[in-house]
Amino acid sequence: MSGRSKSEICLQGIGVSPGIAVCDARLVVSESDRIVTRSISADEIPREIARFEEALIATHAQIKHIQKQVSEMLGDEHASIFDAHLLVVDDRTFIEDVIRTLKKDMINVEPVLSAVSNRYSDMLSKVDDSYLSERAADIRDVTRRILGNLAGERLDRINSITEPCVVVVHDLPPSDTATMNKSMVKAFVTDLGSSTSHTAIMARALQVPAVVGLHNVTATVENGDVVLVDGAKGLVFVCPTEKRLKEYRQRALEQEQILLELDALRDKPPETLDGYLVPITANIELLDELDAVDARGAKGIGLYRTEFLFLGRDTLPSEEEQAAAYISAAKSQYPAPVVIRTLDVGADKLPSSIECFNELNPFLGERAIRFCLSHPQLFKTQLRAILRASVHENVRIMYPMICCLKEVVQANELLHECMDELASKGIPFNRELEIGTMIEVPSAALIADLIAPHVSFFSLGTNDLIQYTMAVDRGNENVAHLYQPTHVAIVRLIDHVVKVSHKYGLWTCVCGQMAASPELVPLLVGLGVDELSVTPSQAPVIKDVIRKLHYSSAAKLAQEALFSDSAEHVKMLCRDLISNIAPEVLEFSS
Ligand code: PEP
Ligand code: MG
Repeated sequence: MSGRSKSEICLQGIGVSPGIAVCDARLVVSESDRIVTRSISADEIPREIARFEEALIATHAQIKHIQKQVSEMLGDEHASIFDAHLLVVDDRTFIEDVIRTLKKDMINVEPVLSAVSNRYSDMLSKVDDSYLSERAADIRDVTRRILGNLAGERLDRINSITEPCVVVVHDLPPSDTATMNKSMVKAFVTDLGSSTSHTAIMARALQVPAVVGLHNVTATVENGDVVLVDGAKGLVFVCPTEKRLKEYRQRALEQEQILLELDALRDKPPETLDGYLVPITANIELLDELDAVDARGAKGIGLYRTEFLFLGRDTLPSEEEQAAAYISAAKSQYPAPVVIRTLDVGADKLPSSIECFNELNPFLGERAIRFCLSHPQLFKTQLRAILRASVHENVRIMYPMICCLKEVVQANELLHECMDELASKGIPFNRELEIGTMIEVPSAALIADLIAPHVSFFSLGTNDLIQYTMAVDRGNENVAHLYQPTHVAIVRLIDHVVKVSHKYGLWTCVCGQMAASPELVPLLVGLGVDELSVTPSQAPVIKDVIRKLHYSSAAKLAQEALFSDSAEHVKMLCRDLISNIAPEVLEFSS
């Protein structure tokens, strides 16, 4: 503990992963944090230069390694872009410039490297020559990688925390969240972020209480301060009073009791009081979560986010490695279905093994299916791995971020090419594998009738559907108040997709966070959604709601919502219904 006697400070953020935690704060630095400037003495200069040289050597080795991999996966043409990166990391003029400035300014290498790199890249980008302006991007990319290597010691701190703590951090990319030491990190709180960011999704997957979007928590908390986190309500108390601690100890006991009672629903069907069945499947990111699926009463996997296999590592997973992962998922759930979603990289999910991202608007950029279709070798490696797993007949495949019919057709063509390749080698797979698409872009929702003949199911990715319909960045806390799942436009899009799917004999699942929000479940059920896929820990709460609901009241709610005039009104209708039928679940939602 810091030992100072401070008054309690209460901060309100966005609760993204429920649970109550109390522990000492640990301020950590993550890759995305600002570069810190530190003065150094003349004696320290050789050591600082040595750190720089070591980071250059590590960067050179990484680029070579990635180049080799890219050449194997995507061909020599793509791999050759790394020749330019190697030229930068070996450029003695650039390196000597950094060393000279470091000696002159007597500060640590990070800010010097950043300033010299900006100077070079700005100069090149102003030259009216496309070859030279591309070199500016190479310099920026390589600099980021060298900075990452220089930060290595600090970054490790987040992955190898050895004492129980509440992590306090400016921002946390999903890959850092995925690799944090879960047994020691009792909760985490961040300045940035919002409820459907992939960092939040990861926190729920790991069942670590988390509050994001606090704006200035890193400036408010000191290392060692006691911090109380209420992950459902989005509250963070710094140096809580004895009275507050007592109140929360009591609430934690009550929550534990409710969860214990809900666990008893594990083997009960997710059926409304008037006999309407709404299957609950699970969203998983990591194979570690497989045990929790059945344990929490979900049946099968409605969304396997395979991109998490690619995050937090410097190499691409091979076809064999991927097939092994998909087969374990399939076997663990058999005969319940396992929907394997093809790679959704880009935006906030940036594997370090893929060097193609440098976009001004990454959420509108080469993400998911767009990336896969422009990198067919890499995509086909994954398709073959999924096909190999499809010998277990419960495997289904799903394409993310579809926005036009052509993408579905092209993806299916590549899938059929892969089938032919496997067949020619005598490798077994299921030719009747069910294919589905995510509906998470408004254009796809509006042409659902054109897509329907090419697939067997739809899965509504409401996290993105809301983002793209409302023009609200799902990860930006400054516009989080505009991110409204109950907006009438969203209700109508869901209604449209469900109706089209039923007309064409398909089924529709919701796998976005809306499905895991207890108060929104009656609305989705009333709109006729056929399946809900949720983070495993949330399955008992959602089953509890379904089992206390009459389908007839859900349908009435949906009709009112479709013709309501505001998101607030729909939210109130949902809240009223849930307070009547299952008030206990409100303890777990913000
Ligand atoms: C979604 O967009 O709702 C979804 C489930 O996909 P992701 O959160 O991985 O973007
Ligand atoms: Mg999505």
